[in-house]
Amino acid sequence: MEKRLRLAPSPTGLLHIGTARTALFNWLFAKKHHGKFLIRIEDTDIIRSKSEYTINILDGLNWLGLDWDEEPIKQSKRISIHKSHIKRLLEIGAAYRCFTSESEILELREKQKLNGFPPKHDNRHRNLTSKEIKEFISQGRSSVIRFKIDDETEIKWEDQIRGEIKWQGKDLGGDIVLSRRALGYEIGDPLYNLAVVVDDNFMNITHVIRGEDHISNTAKQILIYRALDFKLPIFSHTPLILNNEGKKLSKRDSVTSIDEFKEMGYLPEALVNYMAFLGWSIKTPESEILSLKEISKFFDLSDVNKAGAKFSWEKLNWINSQYIKKMELTKLSGFIKKYWVEQGWESPSKEWDLKLTALIQDSMILLKDAIDQSKPFFSLSQIQREGKEFLEKNKDSKESLKYILSYIKQKNISRINGANARELISEISIDQSIKKGILMKSLRVAFFGCLSGPDLIQSWELFSENKSDITLIKRCLI
Ligand code: GLU
Repeated sequence: MEKRLRLAPSPTGLLHIGTARTALFNWLFAKKHHGKFLIRIEDTDIIRSKSEYTINILDGLNWLGLDWDEEPIKQSKRISIHKSHIKRLLEIGAAYRCFTSESEILELREKQKLNGFPPKHDNRHRNLTSKEIKEFISQGRSSVIRFKIDDETEIKWEDQIRGEIKWQGKDLGGDIVLSRRALGYEIGDPLYNLAVVVDDNFMNITHVIRGEDHISNTAKQILIYRALDFKLPIFSHTPLILNNEGKKLSKRDSVTSIDEFKEMGYLPEALVNYMAFLGWSIKTPESEILSLKEISKFFDLSDVNKAGAKFSWEKLNWINSQYIKKMELTKLSGFIKKYWVEQGWESPSKEWDLKLTALIQDSMILLKDAIDQSKPFFSLSQIQREGKEFLEKNKDSKESLKYILSYIKQKNISRINGANARELISEISIDQSIKKGILMKSLRVAFFGCLSGPDLIQSWELFSENKSDITLIKRCLI
């Protein structure tokens, strides 16, 4: 039978890394088994749901390469179908109308709290007669529909990640609410636990993979599946993503939305590669740098850990840098060029762009690093303290820069390249008895304002093509 999986995001915020990781595990499992990966937008919370969040979620999944197989379904379009199932549950006596008011519920909670009990509905209206119902309605009281959960019921399922999970009916907080409040004999808007069961059944979902925060919902939903006589899917609950302190990763941990990762300069291939290892590990690790396609071959739910997965910036950065290192030069140059344009930096030629890209490629961790690393090639960098000290303390340093200028003139060198640059340095070093190291370091200070930076000769070539090397050398002589 075809395996059908789904992501069911609520469009109440930007695509979050936790949701993206759930999407990834569903996608990987579907691909591995040549099944389908589907999307259902759970937009029934009309106050908090926004269409721009739906767009953001779909765009983010697309960016990550997590493509879906059928037209996404909008839950809000299926409200009447959900209501018809609630009606059926009422008819078969699995659900009932409950008139407990908000203040009565609050009162009950307070009492339970005072006596040290967890909140649990007391199912007070489970056995109302039709006369009592009529009376409540005529008093203008609104009602919700509750689904009966017997305290003695045991719910058991074989979770593909956690093994056997058992729940007792008495631990589910009393009869659960299926719909919002409504007046008269109306049924209010359906709520998550009912809608999810009806829709997963409608979409023929065979496997539900979602976060461990849904475990108690699964217990409730299994009871609804049973009552509606629906075939149960196979459930798996993934571990949470944790911050450094072992708490659930949240907005407070600087970034959590996929947009922010993109903005910071992470590559989608690197981010999905990293996310796959958030809770999953490969049995025979050849390399941790794997494409989605490769991961989907190895992916198995039984290799997903039960324990929370700690988010590590270090590992994500390392993976990102590996992807940048092996990226095709013209592609990387395309990304980098966008940053230059944003900064208003103009380059002399396409060839120059590729050379500078190659020069900084290996030291980039994030795409955005290209801004800082290419900045000296576009705008005059300040001479920093270590640069100033070097020029002042080494008597040959300024001299060596003067020689460089005069040799360039003498030899009529219009453009520096790798060969003539090396030749020039050797010649000056021998003629003037100046150590090569001093010559090189002095040039480095002239170009970058400090003693570090990318390969000097290649950099010189680029500065020369940009016609800025002479100006940069001259500024150190004032
Ligand atoms: N809308 C729910 C959520 O975003 C879906 C959970 C589920 O997968 O059933 O948490």
